[in-house]
Amino acid sequence: MSSSRPRIVIIGAGWAGYVLSQELDDKNFDITVIAPHQTFAYTPLLASAATGLFFARLAEEPIRHAHRHTRYYRAFATAADFNQKTITCIPSILQPGGRDYPDPDHPFTVPYDTLIIAPGCVNQTFNTPGAAEHCFFLKTVPDAEAIKWKLLSLLEIASLPTTSRERAKELLAIHVVGGGPTGVELSAELTDLFGEVSETYPHLAGLPSITIHDVAPEVLGMFHEKLKGHALQSFQKRGVEIKTNSHIEKIEDGALYTKEDGRIPCGMVAWATGNKQCDFVESLPGLLKTKLGRILTDQSLRVLKSDQTVLQDVYALGDVADIFDKGLPTTAEVAVQKAEYLVNALNHPGKPAPFVYTQRRMVAYVGGLDGVIMGKRDWTGEAAWLAWRSGSLGWTRSWRRKAMIMASWTWNYIGGREIARK
Ligand SMILES: Cc1cc2nc3c(=O)[nH]c(=O)nc-3n(C[C@H](O)[C@H](O)[C@H](O)COP(=O)(O)OP(=O)(O)OC[C@H]3O[C@@H](n4cnc5c(N)ncnc54)[C@H](O)[C@@H]3O)c2cc1C
Repeated sequence: MSSSRPRIVIIGAGWAGYVLSQELDDKNFDITVIAPHQTFAYTPLLASAATGLFFARLAEEPIRHAHRHTRYYRAFATAADFNQKTITCIPSILQPGGRDYPDPDHPFTVPYDTLIIAPGCVNQTFNTPGAAEHCFFLKTVPDAEAIKWKLLSLLEIASLPTTSRERAKELLAIHVVGGGPTGVELSAELTDLFGEVSETYPHLAGLPSITIHDVAPEVLGMFHEKLKGHALQSFQKRGVEIKTNSHIEKIEDGALYTKEDGRIPCGMVAWATGNKQCDFVESLPGLLKTKLGRILTDQSLRVLKSDQTVLQDVYALGDVADIFDKGLPTTAEVAVQKAEYLVNALNHPGKPAPFVYTQRRMVAYVGGLDGVIMGKRDWTGEAAWLAWRSGSLGWTRSWRRKAMIMASWTWNYIGGREIARK
């Protein structure tokens, strides 16, 4: 690769960074991707992967591709020097179980001509005692696998002759904190899973339970009243308890505590209460940011300095950034549309038109082949489920993954999920 080409450094390989890494012109640019994990996660597929609908590895895509001339460093970006145009990184070492551990003793520096900041966000626990240590999260494929193994382990412990029925009921009580799209979708997939395991674990029939907690007075607040009503009724029919105005005080191994109900014994707490900025983004000096710490850009996605002027040759997109005065949501839809806009702007230099976001329909699956869709037309029921399932497949960006996931769905239909073989 010739070193005379402009050097583009992309920080992050999520929905924003991955699309850029695959679609920027690798003949004209010298592209380097910095990300702590060597794969990109299809986040809309994680809840299905966590409940064993298909192998979790199908919900990810490798960053390295033989036909792409991009450089990849498995590392965390830790600091940026916008004057010297360099990024400081530390290696991210792969550990058994797929987790990434930072190695601060071997830092290195990467120079850039153009920098693209897209490291996404980290889980927000609001410093709730015990949450980081004892809760299960759902942001990465290793997270999805950890949930799957925990569920399997709970089912097996609940089946032992030494486990009383009361204790089995406690073990199979799953609490989901956060009634946003991730919490709702995970709960929906859990109801499907528990429906199916009743065939392979008939002795546990009637014991599993799912409770969603949210501090807000309602869940699925982004949907119209009618759709919200349908979703809540559907959940109720399948025994999912929804506790709104529920204040989580602390989590410990095997229990959560709320202000309203005190200690609640349980088998697992899944935490899905949103995002906060990572340390790298918090460390960036002199940038204009929102109250929640998101980097503000102009409508061409160029980063703004605190004095509202453009920081030359630096772009930001994905969950980490917002356009000044726009308030766009933190979704893959926005991240992908911005990434495709930036690919076009960099591959075809000139004066690009401002970025315009197109909101597509909003979908929530609520389990039991039921769902709600808010778009040009509102839908509920099986049609919504079908649109949701095909929509999840639509997220995958390679034919290989689409084919493998479809084969997996068919196989599950015939033989049961991996976690609950028929
Ligand atoms: C379970 C789940 C389901 C979702 N479902 C939907 C959906 O159906 N529709 C939808 O529109 N949105 C959905 N979302 C939201 C969507 O996933 C996010 O909005 C999207 O991932 C944001 O893309 P991003 O590129 O900004 O960040 P991410 O996709 O989070 O990627 C960030 C990347 O940066 C890397 N990184 C982190 N820190 C550093 C660092 N210091 N240095 C270098 N690299 C770093 C990460 O490893 C990762 O590669 C879902 C999210 C979750 C968690």
